[in-house]
Amino acid sequence: MALIPDSFLTELQYRADAESIIRSYVQLKRSGRTLKGLCPFHGERTPSFFVYPETQSFYCFGCGAGGGVINFIQRIENLGFVEAVNFLAQRVGLPMPEETDDTAGRLRLRILEANREAARHFFKNLSGEGGHQALDYLRSRGLMAGTIRRFGLGYAPESWQGLTDHLKHRGFTEDELVAAGLTARGESGRCYDVFRGRVMFPIIDLRGAVVAFGGRLMGEAKGPKYLNTNDTPAFKKSRNLYALNMAKSHKGDQLILAEGYMDVIALHQAGFGNAVATLGTALTPEQARLISQYAAEVVIAYDADTAGRRATRRAADLFDQIGLRVRVLELEGAKDPDDYIKKRGKERFAQLLSGSQSATEYEIARLREQHDLNSGEGKISFVQAFCQLMATLRSPVETDVYVSMIAGELGIAKEAILASIADIKSRKQREQAKKIDRDLHIFAEETPSRREDPKRAIHRRAAVAEDRLIRLMMKNPDYAERVAEQMSAHEAVTELNGRIFKAVFDKIAAGETLHMASLSASLDQAATRHLSWLLATGDGVAEGLTEALDYVNTIKAERARAERDPTESDSKELQDYIDTLKKIKRQSGGNQYGK
Ligand SMILES: [Zn+2]
Repeated sequence: MALIPDSFLTELQYRADAESIIRSYVQLKRSGRTLKGLCPFHGERTPSFFVYPETQSFYCFGCGAGGGVINFIQRIENLGFVEAVNFLAQRVGLPMPEETDDTAGRLRLRILEANREAARHFFKNLSGEGGHQALDYLRSRGLMAGTIRRFGLGYAPESWQGLTDHLKHRGFTEDELVAAGLTARGESGRCYDVFRGRVMFPIIDLRGAVVAFGGRLMGEAKGPKYLNTNDTPAFKKSRNLYALNMAKSHKGDQLILAEGYMDVIALHQAGFGNAVATLGTALTPEQARLISQYAAEVVIAYDADTAGRRATRRAADLFDQIGLRVRVLELEGAKDPDDYIKKRGKERFAQLLSGSQSATEYEIARLREQHDLNSGEGKISFVQAFCQLMATLRSPVETDVYVSMIAGELGIAKEAILASIADIKSRKQREQAKKIDRDLHIFAEETPSRREDPKRAIHRRAAVAEDRLIRLMMKNPDYAERVAEQMSAHEAVTELNGRIFKAVFDKIAAGETLHMASLSASLDQAATRHLSWLLATGDGVAEGLTEALDYVNTIKAERARAERDPTESDSKELQDYIDTLKKIKRQSGGNQYGK
């Protein structure tokens, strides 16, 4: 099992999409974020077989079959794990790794080498014959020669073969160049350059490797204004940020999130070396977490137009979810940071940065715009929205400041507003409690693990905390690292979860990625089924690092309790559990999940 390199399984996971593979065996109907159909592994008339594209897993609530796409093939084609990997690899046209060599790893390396050479080539073009138009553009945007060099900007001429030919002379194969996203293959099979007639922005990762490119259209050439490298084996757009390689060494604990490459470069040139940008897409949760690893506070400096405001709100929400302090820049009288600095100077921009609104102030200002504070009705709906916002704040001091401000301004008693906030908060807490009740309910009904892991029945609270923690880590692999620092796998109380923790922590320690394909390679069948059940049953509530660490504490406490007194302390819990089971059996007229 372990003979298949992790990098290969990652590549396979990426290419062999669970939805399309399973679709070729089972008729699936989409419902929200999941797909369902009739289980191919047991006879049924109403569908209880679910596929989860997000986690690339499947689970049948009827018979308890579950796993990743490799496990699906194993079961439906009746193959061993390695045979199933082979089968899938063939199906998606991925050559199997030969003996010991790490094909995917080698390809990644070749892509990085090709990118480096391409960046050199683009940079050289800038001072070459065809480059003056691009150079003029960069100068017209106020960039100095040193800045252009530092960011390695370049030019891709309007030629179809220039780069491809150059790199082929340097020993790269067409397949490598296509994999790198530098070259495309036409229908006739002929290869041509992807970037043509563009100013080129190399994207450099934290290790200093050129992983991708952004290209801005020049002159008369056709195509989208900005073109970015698609995901390749060496690059994932959603996990990288432009200029983070430079911004990470900036002193201070603040990062500026700007909208595009040019904004970032202009900010760096003006002395704000802590600016970064996403790569032509909206901010992703992965990028938000990446930023939180390098800063305690982020300042959003998006364009001052409608799209920019919408993107600002979305980004502020994402940062808020992971507990990062957010400020929002109001660029009065300018369309973007670059424009602002040009019009008012960098000193004013620095002032703006230090005095920028907190995300809460920004939200309050937006609420003001949305409600007519001159009418009674408008006031009421404003206060309601304001209370909702206040209920999400963690700091009582911060809450008090804003409540006092709004109470004074609208002439409403502060106590009334505080009472309303307390109301919303306690409603939220009740929902939280319900969430746990529901867990215990599902827990009592669950099929596979009840039989295979008797400890789950004895240590229910530990099992629920472990279940929730595993789900959380699968959704946020970067939290898994923090969790691994706090606990070890043998601290898990129940058996199946213990095995899953071990597999997860081993992957983390080896610097490998967490996904169904690689985990199922190191888990036995029972644990794989349990994992897919976990992924199938979460309540979809987004939980953060705080919750993760809380679960760790619960597990440790339950472990200590179990060790102190393995039988007696849990006997009441066990009785409760048996009672719940009986009740469910009675309600459903028999055990519908039994085989
Ligand atoms: Zn089934």
